[in-house]
Amino acid sequence: MESDSPVYKRLHNVKSIILVLSGKGGVGKSSVATQLALSATTSTNSKVGLLDVDLTGPSIPRMLGLDGQSVHMGLHGQGWVPVRADKEGKLSVMSIAFLLKSKNDAVVWRGPKKTAMIRQFLADVKWDCDTLIIDTPPGTSDEHIALTEHLAPLADRIHAVIVTTPQAVALSDVQKEISFARTVGIPILGLIENMSGYACPHCADCTNVFSTGGGESLAKRENILFLGKVPIDPLLVKLLDDIKILQQKKEQLLEQGERGEQNDQK
Ligand code: ADP
Repeated sequence: MESDSPVYKRLHNVKSIILVLSGKGGVGKSSVATQLALSATTSTNSKVGLLDVDLTGPSIPRMLGLDGQSVHMGLHGQGWVPVRADKEGKLSVMSIAFLLKSKNDAVVWRGPKKTAMIRQFLADVKWDCDTLIIDTPPGTSDEHIALTEHLAPLADRIHAVIVTTPQAVALSDVQKEISFARTVGIPILGLIENMSGYACPHCADCTNVFSTGGGESLAKRENILFLGKVPIDPLLVKLLDDIKILQQKKEQLLEQGERGEQNDQK
């Protein structure tokens, strides 16, 4: 569908837009969005954009070791240049965190301001990608409504991936997410059951700490493709901690550098 909307003009070359949805926070939606983006750059060799629309709890920059980065305006007012997450320039990222002065700043906005920000994320960022993966906040919020409104002219290439944990409490929330996607007419690519059992780092065993299989049976019930189970993996937690330590070291070095420059100027 052709459209004159700024969002359509900016994104009409993007072949696929994937919304990552979850009913609850903390089920691993941002982790899945990040891993989908990383694996799409390697397995399909395509250029990927990762947009973090979790305005009140952005975690994508931390997961990619990009904390403290900021975006800048491109030449000739062509919009914000997203942050590159790799040397090759195959993964570019945009998040509210790149616009905040401090990562501890809180975003306390009403719906219209959130809607305007999301429009800017879609229309004013120089996206140069084949696939755009969008990490959304949990539930069905102002952000979801803004996304569906602004992306309506690109409806032919939008799909959703649903993330849940196996427990019943997350499953009842995810049911609402499925219903949201269906109501607004976004086809669901499939459902991922995250934190499904515990992958022991010392042996190949996977222990079912909580229940398991709830996501799989929900997918069957709802006639959604089950994309698979991801166990709780201590290595993932360690990798994120390592990134945090590297990030802190980088910030310390930058601070020391800045202090050195100031002393030189005195
Ligand atoms: P959400 O986006 O749904 O709020 P996150 O992706 O931020 O959830 O994950 C919440 C926390 O759980 C993060 O610290 C993340 O590293 C951790 N986590 C997510 N999935 C896994 C997993 N499969 N194994 C281990 N830790 C995980």
